[in-house]
Amino acid sequence: MYHYSGVVHIHTCYSDGSSDFSGIARAALKSGAHFVLVNDHDTLAGLYREGEKYLHGVLVLVGSEITPQRNHFLCYDVQRVPSNKISPREYVRKVYRQGGFGFLAHPDQKENPLFPAKMHWDHWNVDMEMHYGLEIWNFFAQWMGSFQSVSGLIKNILFPKAFLKPPNPKTLLEWDRLGEKRPVPAIAGVDAHGGRNLGWLPTILSSYVHQFKTLRTYVMTQKPLLGNVQRDRVLILQALKKGCSYLVNHYAGRVNHFSFCAHFGDHCCRMGEEVDYDPSMVLEIVLPAKAHLRVIKNGSLYAQCTTEKLRLPNPGPGVYRVEVYKGKFRPRPWIFSNHLYLRG
Ligand SMILES: [Zn+2]
Ligand SMILES: [Zn+2]
Repeated sequence: MYHYSGVVHIHTCYSDGSSDFSGIARAALKSGAHFVLVNDHDTLAGLYREGEKYLHGVLVLVGSEITPQRNHFLCYDVQRVPSNKISPREYVRKVYRQGGFGFLAHPDQKENPLFPAKMHWDHWNVDMEMHYGLEIWNFFAQWMGSFQSVSGLIKNILFPKAFLKPPNPKTLLEWDRLGEKRPVPAIAGVDAHGGRNLGWLPTILSSYVHQFKTLRTYVMTQKPLLGNVQRDRVLILQALKKGCSYLVNHYAGRVNHFSFCAHFGDHCCRMGEEVDYDPSMVLEIVLPAKAHLRVIKNGSLYAQCTTEKLRLPNPGPGVYRVEVYKGKFRPRPWIFSNHLYLRG
Protein backbone atom coordinates (compact mmCIF):
# COMPACT_ATOMS: atom_id res chain seq x y z
CA MET A 1 0.00 0.00 0.00
CA TYR A 2 1.07 3.58 -0.65
CA HIS A 3 0.48 6.24 2.01
CA TYR A 4 -0.15 9.90 1.13
CA SER A 5 -0.60 12.78 3.53
CA GLY A 6 -3.31 15.34 2.84
CA VAL A 7 -4.60 18.60 4.26
CA VAL A 8 -8.38 18.50 4.31
CA HIS A 9 -10.95 21.32 4.66
CA ILE A 10 -9.30 24.49 3.40
CA HIS A 11 -10.98 27.82 2.63
CA THR A 12 -9.42 29.87 -0.16
CA CYS A 13 -9.94 33.33 -1.67
CA TYR A 14 -13.05 31.93 -3.40
CA SER A 15 -14.87 32.19 -0.04
CA ASP A 16 -13.40 33.56 3.21
CA GLY A 17 -9.81 32.31 2.92
CA SER A 18 -6.88 34.47 1.96
CA SER A 19 -5.09 32.69 -0.89
CA ASP A 20 -5.64 31.29 -4.37
CA PHE A 21 -4.78 27.67 -5.24
CA SER A 22 -1.15 28.46 -6.04
CA GLY A 23 -0.58 29.94 -2.56
CA ILE A 24 -2.37 26.98 -0.97
CA ALA A 25 -0.23 24.48 -2.88
CA ARG A 26 2.98 26.36 -2.01
CA ALA A 27 2.04 26.24 1.69
CA ALA A 28 1.24 22.52 1.37
CA LEU A 29 4.60 21.87 -0.28
CA LYS A 30 6.41 23.71 2.56
CA SER A 31 4.54 21.65 5.13
CA GLY A 32 5.22 18.35 3.35
CA ALA A 33 1.69 17.40 2.20
CA HIS A 34 1.00 15.40 -0.99
CA PHE A 35 -2.54 16.67 -1.63
CA VAL A 36 -5.02 19.27 -0.42
CA LEU A 37 -8.82 19.34 -0.37
CA VAL A 38 -10.41 22.76 -0.82
CA ASN A 39 -13.85 23.34 0.75
CA ASP A 40 -15.03 26.87 0.10
CA HIS A 41 -18.40 27.85 1.56
CA ASP A 42 -21.32 27.00 -0.74
CA THR A 43 -19.35 27.41 -3.94
CA LEU A 44 -17.24 25.60 -6.52
CA ALA A 45 -15.92 28.90 -7.91
CA GLY A 46 -12.33 27.73 -7.41
CA LEU A 47 -13.03 24.59 -9.44
CA TYR A 48 -14.50 26.61 -12.33
CA ARG A 49 -11.72 29.25 -12.26
CA GLU A 50 -8.67 27.08 -11.62
CA GLY A 51 -9.71 23.44 -11.91
CA GLU A 52 -8.22 20.46 -10.14
CA LYS A 53 -4.52 20.13 -10.86
CA TYR A 54 -1.01 19.51 -9.61
CA LEU A 55 0.54 22.78 -8.45
CA HIS A 56 4.10 22.86 -7.07
CA GLY A 57 3.91 19.05 -6.97
CA VAL A 58 0.81 19.06 -4.75
CA LEU A 59 -2.52 17.70 -6.02
CA VAL A 60 -5.27 20.27 -5.43
CA LEU A 61 -8.77 18.73 -5.28
CA VAL A 62 -11.93 20.79 -4.89
CA GLY A 63 -15.11 20.13 -2.95
CA SER A 64 -17.29 22.54 -1.03
CA GLU A 65 -18.67 23.13 2.46
CA ILE A 66 -22.45 23.49 2.53
CA THR A 67 -22.81 26.15 5.20
CA PRO A 68 -26.17 26.97 6.74
CA GLN A 69 -26.00 28.47 10.27
CA ARG A 70 -25.16 25.02 11.59
CA ASN A 71 -25.06 21.45 10.22
CA HIS A 72 -22.15 22.18 7.87
CA PHE A 73 -21.43 19.42 5.35
CA LEU A 74 -18.14 18.83 3.50
CA CYS A 75 -18.84 17.41 0.04
CA TYR A 76 -16.52 16.04 -2.66
CA ASP A 77 -16.74 14.85 -6.24
CA VAL A 78 -19.73 17.11 -6.95
CA GLN A 79 -20.53 19.26 -9.98
CA ARG A 80 -23.09 21.45 -8.19
CA VAL A 81 -23.32 22.53 -4.56
CA PRO A 82 -26.82 21.97 -3.14
CA SER A 83 -28.49 25.01 -1.58
CA ASN A 84 -27.87 25.60 2.12
CA LYS A 85 -31.53 26.67 2.48
CA ILE A 86 -32.90 23.13 2.27
CA SER A 87 -32.85 20.59 5.13
CA PRO A 88 -29.66 18.66 5.99
CA ARG A 89 -31.33 15.44 4.87
CA GLU A 90 -32.06 16.99 1.47
CA TYR A 91 -28.62 18.44 0.82
CA VAL A 92 -26.86 15.26 1.89
CA ARG A 93 -29.14 13.33 -0.49
CA LYS A 94 -28.47 15.76 -3.34
CA VAL A 95 -24.72 15.28 -2.89
CA TYR A 96 -25.02 11.48 -3.13
CA ARG A 97 -27.54 11.58 -5.99
CA GLN A 98 -24.98 13.32 -8.22
CA GLY A 99 -22.33 10.71 -7.36
CA GLY A 100 -20.57 12.70 -4.66
CA PHE A 101 -19.92 11.92 -1.02
CA GLY A 102 -19.26 13.85 2.16
CA PHE A 103 -18.67 14.28 5.85
CA LEU A 104 -20.59 16.02 8.65
CA ALA A 105 -18.27 18.94 9.48
CA HIS A 106 -17.19 19.70 13.08
CA PRO A 107 -20.30 17.86 14.39
CA ASP A 108 -19.73 18.70 18.09
CA GLN A 109 -18.13 22.12 17.82
CA LYS A 110 -18.13 23.81 21.24
CA GLU A 111 -19.38 27.35 21.63
CA ASN A 112 -16.99 30.11 22.59
CA PRO A 113 -18.21 33.14 24.62
CA LEU A 114 -15.74 35.42 22.81
CA PHE A 115 -16.96 34.40 19.35
CA PRO A 116 -20.47 33.04 19.85
CA ALA A 117 -21.71 30.91 16.99
CA LYS A 118 -23.47 27.55 17.06
CA MET A 119 -21.97 25.35 14.38
CA HIS A 120 -22.57 21.81 15.62
CA TRP A 121 -24.79 19.17 14.02
CA ASP A 122 -28.31 18.99 15.46
CA HIS A 123 -28.85 15.33 14.73
CA TRP A 124 -26.63 12.58 13.45
CA ASN A 125 -28.87 10.11 11.74
CA VAL A 126 -29.50 12.37 8.78
CA ASP A 127 -30.14 9.44 6.53
CA MET A 128 -28.73 6.01 7.20
CA GLU A 129 -28.98 5.06 3.52
CA MET A 130 -26.35 7.66 2.70
CA HIS A 131 -22.90 6.46 3.70
CA TYR A 132 -21.72 9.90 4.75
CA GLY A 133 -18.71 10.14 7.03
CA LEU A 134 -17.65 12.35 9.93
CA GLU A 135 -15.01 15.01 10.35
CA ILE A 136 -14.14 13.71 13.82
CA TRP A 137 -11.21 16.10 14.33
CA ASN A 138 -11.21 19.76 13.25
CA PHE A 139 -8.24 21.98 14.08
CA PHE A 140 -10.05 25.34 13.93
CA ALA A 141 -13.09 24.08 15.85
CA GLN A 142 -10.83 22.66 18.57
CA TRP A 143 -8.94 25.91 18.76
CA MET A 144 -12.16 27.93 19.05
CA GLY A 145 -13.48 25.62 21.75
CA SER A 146 -10.27 25.52 23.75
CA PHE A 147 -10.48 28.88 25.52
CA GLN A 148 -13.26 30.68 27.36
CA SER A 149 -11.54 33.99 28.15
CA VAL A 150 -8.98 36.47 26.84
CA SER A 151 -6.28 34.99 29.13
CA GLY A 152 -7.07 31.53 27.73
CA LEU A 153 -6.77 32.92 24.21
CA ILE A 154 -3.32 34.39 24.99
CA LYS A 155 -2.18 31.08 26.53
CA ASN A 156 -3.25 29.23 23.38
CA ILE A 157 -1.39 31.67 21.17
CA LEU A 158 1.78 31.30 23.27
CA PHE A 159 1.58 27.49 23.53
CA PRO A 160 -0.28 26.35 20.42
CA LYS A 161 0.80 22.71 20.69
CA ALA A 162 -0.68 22.30 24.17
CA PHE A 163 -4.31 23.02 23.27
CA LEU A 164 -4.81 20.38 20.58
CA LYS A 165 -6.72 17.61 22.34
CA PRO A 166 -7.96 14.26 20.98
CA PRO A 167 -11.26 14.30 19.09
CA ASN A 168 -14.30 15.04 21.27
CA PRO A 169 -15.20 11.80 23.19
CA LYS A 170 -18.87 12.40 22.35
CA THR A 171 -18.04 12.44 18.63
CA LEU A 172 -15.96 9.27 18.97
CA LEU A 173 -18.75 7.45 20.81
CA GLU A 174 -21.35 8.42 18.19
CA TRP A 175 -18.92 7.42 15.43
CA ASP A 176 -18.35 4.00 17.03
CA ARG A 177 -22.12 3.49 17.48
CA LEU A 178 -22.86 4.35 13.86
CA GLY A 179 -20.03 2.02 12.84
CA GLU A 180 -21.91 -0.92 14.35
CA LYS A 181 -24.65 -0.32 11.75
CA ARG A 182 -22.64 0.62 8.64
CA PRO A 183 -19.11 1.71 7.64
CA VAL A 184 -18.53 5.37 8.58
CA PRO A 185 -15.36 6.94 7.14
CA ALA A 186 -13.68 9.65 9.21
CA ILE A 187 -11.37 12.54 8.31
CA ALA A 188 -9.40 15.18 10.19
CA GLY A 189 -10.01 18.71 8.86
CA VAL A 190 -7.96 21.83 9.39
CA ASP A 191 -10.62 24.42 8.48
CA ALA A 192 -7.79 26.75 7.48
CA HIS A 193 -8.61 30.30 6.38
CA GLY A 194 -5.11 31.76 6.06
CA GLY A 195 -3.62 34.70 7.89
CA ARG A 196 -4.94 37.82 6.25
CA ASN A 197 -8.60 37.35 7.08
CA LEU A 198 -8.03 36.59 10.75
CA GLY A 199 -6.01 39.72 11.51
CA TRP A 200 -6.54 39.48 15.24
CA LEU A 201 -4.49 36.29 15.34
CA PRO A 202 -0.72 36.46 14.98
CA THR A 203 -0.16 35.68 11.31
CA ILE A 204 2.30 32.92 12.03
CA LEU A 205 -0.39 30.89 13.84
CA SER A 206 -3.18 31.53 11.38
CA SER A 207 -1.02 31.13 8.27
CA TYR A 208 -1.71 28.25 5.93
CA VAL A 209 1.84 26.92 6.38
CA HIS A 210 1.46 26.72 10.15
CA GLN A 211 -2.02 25.22 10.08
CA PHE A 212 -1.09 22.66 7.40
CA LYS A 213 1.42 21.28 9.93
CA THR A 214 -1.32 20.37 12.40
CA LEU A 215 -3.98 17.77 11.51
CA ARG A 216 -3.52 15.51 8.51
CA THR A 217 -5.55 12.78 6.87
CA TYR A 218 -3.32 10.04 5.40
CA VAL A 219 -4.88 7.96 2.64
CA MET A 220 -3.71 4.50 1.58
CA THR A 221 -3.87 3.47 -2.06
CA GLN A 222 -3.15 0.17 -3.86
CA LYS A 223 -1.34 1.99 -6.66
CA PRO A 224 1.08 4.92 -6.48
CA LEU A 225 0.15 8.45 -7.53
CA LEU A 226 1.77 9.11 -10.92
CA GLY A 227 1.08 12.79 -11.58
CA ASN A 228 -2.01 12.21 -13.73
CA VAL A 229 -4.78 14.34 -12.22
CA GLN A 230 -7.79 12.31 -13.41
CA ARG A 231 -6.28 9.01 -12.30
CA ASP A 232 -4.79 10.22 -9.01
CA ARG A 233 -7.92 12.10 -7.89
CA VAL A 234 -9.92 8.87 -8.13
CA LEU A 235 -7.38 7.01 -5.98
CA ILE A 236 -7.46 9.67 -3.26
CA LEU A 237 -11.21 10.27 -3.28
CA GLN A 238 -11.98 6.53 -3.20
CA ALA A 239 -9.71 6.07 -0.18
CA LEU A 240 -11.38 8.98 1.64
CA LYS A 241 -14.86 7.76 0.78
CA LYS A 242 -14.08 4.28 2.04
CA GLY A 243 -12.21 5.31 5.19
CA CYS A 244 -9.02 3.69 3.93
CA SER A 245 -7.16 6.34 5.88
CA TYR A 246 -5.93 7.46 9.29
CA LEU A 247 -5.67 10.80 11.04
CA VAL A 248 -2.45 12.29 12.38
CA ASN A 249 -1.64 15.23 14.65
CA HIS A 250 1.63 16.53 13.20
CA TYR A 251 2.17 18.63 16.33
CA ALA A 252 2.99 15.29 18.01
CA GLY A 253 5.18 14.03 15.17
CA ARG A 254 5.30 12.97 11.56
CA VAL A 255 4.43 9.44 10.53
CA ASN A 256 6.62 7.35 8.22
CA HIS A 257 4.74 4.14 8.63
CA PHE A 258 1.53 3.06 10.34
CA SER A 259 -0.47 -0.05 9.82
CA PHE A 260 -3.60 -1.49 11.40
CA CYS A 261 -5.18 -4.56 9.84
CA ALA A 262 -6.75 -7.95 10.51
CA HIS A 263 -4.86 -10.87 8.92
CA PHE A 264 -6.51 -14.17 8.10
CA GLY A 265 -5.08 -16.77 5.73
CA ASP A 266 -3.71 -14.91 2.72
CA HIS A 267 -6.12 -12.01 3.28
CA CYS A 268 -5.71 -8.72 5.03
CA CYS A 269 -8.63 -6.51 6.10
CA ARG A 270 -7.55 -2.87 6.11
CA MET A 271 -9.04 0.30 7.58
CA GLY A 272 -12.45 1.05 6.10
CA GLU A 273 -13.06 -2.58 5.07
CA GLU A 274 -16.00 -4.68 6.21
CA VAL A 275 -15.56 -8.48 6.31
CA ASP A 276 -17.17 -11.52 7.94
CA TYR A 277 -15.36 -12.50 11.11
CA ASP A 278 -13.10 -15.52 11.05
CA PRO A 279 -11.64 -17.02 14.28
CA SER A 280 -8.23 -17.31 12.60
CA MET A 281 -8.04 -13.51 12.43
CA VAL A 282 -5.15 -11.67 14.05
CA LEU A 283 -5.29 -7.92 14.63
CA GLU A 284 -1.91 -6.40 13.91
CA ILE A 285 -0.83 -2.84 14.66
CA VAL A 286 2.56 -1.41 13.73
CA LEU A 287 3.40 2.11 14.91
CA PRO A 288 6.04 4.50 13.54
CA ALA A 289 7.71 4.53 16.99
CA LYS A 290 7.10 3.28 20.52
CA ALA A 291 3.99 5.02 21.86
CA HIS A 292 0.92 4.42 23.98
CA LEU A 293 -1.61 2.40 22.02
CA ARG A 294 -5.30 1.99 22.83
CA VAL A 295 -7.41 -0.51 20.90
CA ILE A 296 -11.11 0.35 20.90
CA LYS A 297 -13.74 -2.33 20.23
CA ASN A 298 -17.41 -1.29 19.78
CA GLY A 299 -16.74 2.03 21.54
CA SER A 300 -14.98 0.54 24.62
CA LEU A 301 -11.34 0.09 25.50
CA TYR A 302 -10.31 -3.45 24.49
CA ALA A 303 -6.53 -3.39 25.05
CA GLN A 304 -3.81 -0.86 25.78
CA CYS A 305 -0.05 -0.88 26.18
CA THR A 306 3.09 1.09 25.34
CA THR A 307 4.65 -0.59 22.35
CA GLU A 308 5.74 -0.31 18.73
CA LYS A 309 3.96 -3.44 17.54
CA LEU A 310 0.99 -5.43 18.81
CA ARG A 311 -0.68 -8.68 17.69
CA LEU A 312 -4.07 -9.75 19.07
CA PRO A 313 -5.19 -13.22 17.90
CA ASN A 314 -8.91 -14.09 17.62
CA PRO A 315 -10.25 -10.77 18.97
CA GLY A 316 -13.89 -11.66 18.15
CA PRO A 317 -16.31 -9.88 15.85
CA GLY A 318 -16.61 -6.13 16.38
CA VAL A 319 -15.84 -2.63 15.14
CA TYR A 320 -12.20 -1.90 15.92
CA ARG A 321 -10.07 1.22 15.80
CA VAL A 322 -6.88 2.40 17.47
CA GLU A 323 -5.72 5.60 19.18
CA VAL A 324 -2.03 6.41 19.65
CA TYR A 325 -0.61 8.89 22.17
CA LYS A 326 2.98 10.11 22.12
CA GLY A 327 5.10 11.32 25.04
CA LYS A 328 5.67 10.07 28.57
CA PHE A 329 4.63 12.89 30.89
CA ARG A 330 2.09 14.86 28.86
CA PRO A 331 1.07 12.42 26.14
CA ARG A 332 -0.24 14.07 23.01
CA PRO A 333 -2.87 12.55 20.73
CA TRP A 334 -0.95 11.38 17.68
CA ILE A 335 -2.73 8.87 15.41
CA PHE A 336 -6.43 7.92 15.17
CA SER A 337 -7.23 5.10 12.78
CA ASN A 338 -10.38 4.50 10.82
CA HIS A 339 -12.41 1.39 11.73
CA LEU A 340 -12.01 -2.24 10.75
CA TYR A 341 -15.47 -3.83 10.55
CA LEU A 342 -15.29 -7.50 11.53
CA ARG A 343 -18.93 -8.55 11.36
CA GLY A 344 -20.17 -11.53 13.38
ZN1 LIG B 1 -17.92 24.85 8.98
ZN1 LIG C 1 -14.96 25.37 7.14
